[in-house]
Amino acid sequence: MKKQVEKTKTFPKKKGMLPTKICVVCGRPFEWRKRWERNWEEVRYCSDRCRRAR
Ligand SMILES: [Zn+2]
Repeated sequence: MKKQVEKTKTFPKKKGMLPTKICVVCGRPFEWRKRWERNWEEVRYCSDRCRRAR
């Protein structure tokens, strides 16, 4: 009996596909996250911790 495997290509999990930014507080690069999909252009901090640091 043959089983058909369906390949779901919803989101390619390739490294380097996600855009990155440099945190203005700690200077570390961070990757795009789902929570920022609406305001990614405004994101300047890698986390809430850095956001409050300044
Ligand atoms: Zn940071």
